[in-house]
Amino acid sequence: MADGSRPFSRRLLVASSARALTLTEACRPGRRLVAICRCGERAAVPTEHWLELHLGALRLSTFETRLRCICGARQVAFEVWIGEPPQGAAITLFR
Ligand SMILES: [Zn+2]
Repeated sequence: MADGSRPFSRRLLVASSARALTLTEACRPGRRLVAICRCGERAAVPTEHWLELHLGALRLSTFETRLRCICGARQVAFEVWIGEPPQGAAITLFR
């Protein structure tokens, strides 16, 4: 890849597969949860807050409405990534 690219990373599960996982399964060591919006934005999801609330047993589909995209969308989809996920500030935690 070009200079300045991130270390090797890849998408482990696409949205259609990931939404049935629990939060804990998606957050296993080495994995990162990534939110994707229908506008095309992608961002790593800070999951620490949800885990502190003991929501790890809930399925990812439960969290789809807990994020907001800069485009105004109030629902996102999730992917599970290995390695360094795409960074972005367009999608933020709402609750
Ligand atoms: Zn969006």
